[in-house]
Amino acid sequence: MAADTIAGRLEAVRRELPPEVELVAVSKFHPMSALAEAYGAGQRVFGESRVQELKSKVAATLAGEMAPGAPVPDDVRWHFIGHLQRNKVRQLLALRPALIESVDSTELLELIDSEAARLGIVQPVLLQAHVAREETKTGFSPEEMLEYFTARKFENLRATHICGLMGMASNTDDTERVRHDFATLRDLKRQIEALCPDLRGFSTLSMGMSHDRGIAVEEGSTMVRIGTDIFGEREY
Ligand SMILES: *Cc1c(COP(=O)(O)O)cnc(C)c1O
Repeated sequence: MAADTIAGRLEAVRRELPPEVELVAVSKFHPMSALAEAYGAGQRVFGESRVQELKSKVAATLAGEMAPGAPVPDDVRWHFIGHLQRNKVRQLLALRPALIESVDSTELLELIDSEAARLGIVQPVLLQAHVAREETKTGFSPEEMLEYFTARKFENLRATHICGLMGMASNTDDTERVRHDFATLRDLKRQIEALCPDLRGFSTLSMGMSHDRGIAVEEGSTMVRIGTDIFGEREY
């Protein structure tokens, strides 16, 4: 298989990952033809960062574009990984994402919860933690996160399942800093587990992108989000 095809790159990424680490193929900004190629190579989990784009890809999937010539697939799992605006929560949940990885505030969590309750579903989510050096990255600070779990605010959720944490490392060539950020995320998850040993299904640690996935896996990632190394550079 040629290494410069999507199927070839997907295979190369998979080969490097321990089998228990879930691979999210981050398909944002790539055309349906690229997703279809990955689907044809066995990929089922796709990550998108904008509600509009996800909406059109869900529609294209239902129109048969994910598996041309085959029955419309019912096994595609969409992960939402971008910043979610409050006024888009209803639209997003209507698309039934398998996992919203980027819940970055309690207000957003509560909105998702009430919308999921209204729909009569249980929405799986990850809480996004901010540990990177950049101030522009969103998420709960470790302090806010620990405060949330110390106060056991999750007990108020009616229709949301917190499955774990998502985070990003600092965007730097300094691999020690990157390793430190990922270790901070892993330790934060452990602290939460120690605070709330009765939390169920709090098992996912989504960390690692194309350039830092090796370090993320070494530091305990259970889910990596890979775009560029599978689909090539994005054209914004
Ligand atoms: C775009 C994006 C990725 C994928 O990044 P690559 O460097 O292309 O692998 C992963 N996680 C999040 C949150 C993203 O927005």
